[in-house]
Amino acid sequence: MPTIKLEVVSPDAIIYSADISMLIVRSTGGELGILPRHLPLIAGLLPCAMRVKFPDREELIAVAGGFMEVQPDKITVLASSAETPIAIDVNRAEKAYARARERIDAFRSAKPLTTKIDIDRAEAALQRALARLKTAKSAQQEEHKA
Ligand code: ATP
Repeated sequence: MPTIKLEVVSPDAIIYSADISMLIVRSTGGELGILPRHLPLIAGLLPCAMRVKFPDREELIAVAGGFMEVQPDKITVLASSAETPIAIDVNRAEKAYARARERIDAFRSAKPLTTKIDIDRAEAALQRALARLKTAKSAQQEEHKA
């Protein structure tokens, strides 16, 4: 079974490194699936729960955004921040989600002092929180199965 090396790097640490079967990410151009021997590529990443596939299982990694460089034998994800399920503080992500939702609701009901910049920031914060919650939940479900 062919594999490709995945390295996920944040500004201060190597978050993850493994030989994998496939990576599925949310890029600025839409969803991308990267298999071994993919053509060289650079793509911008949006906040997402990246799907890391192995022959017998799948793991999720939360990525807040950044860039991905693909070479035929290696994928490097340069993330503004990234977390494996075990590193995620679910309570913090739930609070971030609630804060972002409140800001988005305030914008939609046209309360004063909410600007376009606020809504873009709130939407991005909501996506980061959702990616973290989905990633953390995936590991809880795996534990349940075991
Ligand atoms: P918050 O509002 O809770 O700070 P955020 O989405 O604004 O969330 P980021 O700016 O994406 O946070 O990340 C800042 C740092 O905090 C990064 O190092 C990131 O890995 C870490 N981080 C953010 N949220 C969590 C979380 N729920 N669990 C673990 N680490 C987190």
